[in-house]
Amino acid sequence: MSVRLRSEALFAESLKHTPGGVNSPVRAFRAVGGTPFFAASASGSRVSDVDGNSYIDYVGTWGPAILGHAAPPIVRAIQSAAERGTSFGIPHSQEVTMAQRVKSLVPSVEKVRFCNSGTEATMSAIRLARGFTGRDRIIKFDGCYHGHSDGLLVKAGSGALTLGNPDSAGVPAAVAQQTVVLPFNDPEALREVFQNQGRDIAAVILELVPANAGLYLPQPGYLELLRQLTRDHGTVLIADEVMTGFRLGPAGAQGGFGLTPDLSCFGKIIGGGLPVGAFGGRADIMDYLAPLGPVYQAGTLSGNPLAMAAGLAALEALQSTDAWSRLENLGGELEQGMVAVAKAAQIPVQFQRIGSMFCGYFTNQPVWNLADAMHSDRARFARFFHGMLDRGVYLAPSQFEAGFISTAHTSADIEATVRAAESVFASW
Ligand SMILES: *Cc1c(COP(=O)(O)O)cnc(C)c1O
Repeated sequence: MSVRLRSEALFAESLKHTPGGVNSPVRAFRAVGGTPFFAASASGSRVSDVDGNSYIDYVGTWGPAILGHAAPPIVRAIQSAAERGTSFGIPHSQEVTMAQRVKSLVPSVEKVRFCNSGTEATMSAIRLARGFTGRDRIIKFDGCYHGHSDGLLVKAGSGALTLGNPDSAGVPAAVAQQTVVLPFNDPEALREVFQNQGRDIAAVILELVPANAGLYLPQPGYLELLRQLTRDHGTVLIADEVMTGFRLGPAGAQGGFGLTPDLSCFGKIIGGGLPVGAFGGRADIMDYLAPLGPVYQAGTLSGNPLAMAAGLAALEALQSTDAWSRLENLGGELEQGMVAVAKAAQIPVQFQRIGSMFCGYFTNQPVWNLADAMHSDRARFARFFHGMLDRGVYLAPSQFEAGFISTAHTSADIEATVRAAESVFASW
């Protein structure tokens, strides 16, 4: 059992100054109970807390740390960029290099613009799609997360064809009503909406591999249908690859599934651990952005030289080391091990994985959408989470988050993780 007295004291202090003691809600451990540990430092596959505990980390700062923490090429790139200036607010050459790099990796991107977060990227892509099509309504999917802008914090109304309801206080109903929310992997629901209101739909936005309600995959044919319907109706297809971009392969999920979206959104890995976002795609759509076109979008720190340098270093390191096949191998090892120990302990788990992303749902039912994910035993997950943390393994503090493996993880890390899970199950 790890002692976390300093973390507890810091959290108590933080609660006095910051709502819930955190700057992003899931960090507060509300979904699993207890209080969060406070990071002191992180390096490679490990994060250390202020009490001197060290954990094998499968959160990886929620996705960006694909090379592990404080990866030397990224640290060097940031240091040398900082010496040349931390922000310019005027164009600089690294923005051009970064744009070229993104285009060379993701063929559907003809032009790209950098911003400061995934939320900004999706919010701007939606506005752009609306400006381009002259339509207001958009479609999103239950369980997909696209950041916290008004029109995307929307949940399903009653019945597939009704308009969305706010999923947060403070989101105007009038805004939510412009978002149609559909269940993922339901071709009929999709066909029905396009049949009835296809000519009003500016955009469909989705995670090609939804990874913000745990992790589930698109069923065969589903993405193809989506591409067909959006093309037929002049609707802009937006692939939100903020999580999957550069993680599932050089061209992200769209490369893996052979889908060509009209626009794509990026974040996380593309900033190498610094705050960044990007959206890009068809040049005819992107050219609707100011200053060329009528759709306004801007940012004081957009294209920030530190973020560009860090992101570029991350992409170069991934490409030059064949990172993705290594990540696939590590993912396979984790999957095999976890499935085996759960089976031996007769614990029903759906271990879902694609490449270096994974989620173990405590249920015996297959999971293809949010409704399926809700069948999982969250109380059991909370016990599992704390059991793992006490054994030095840090998983995301919620059943509805994906885990991430980095290139800094070793087979020994994976083995230690599997043994920890075995020990947790044995203690039940
Ligand atoms: C994390 C995430 C976002 C939001 O990105 P932020 O940088 O947190 O604003 C958007 N879409 C997806 C798929 C994400 O995983």
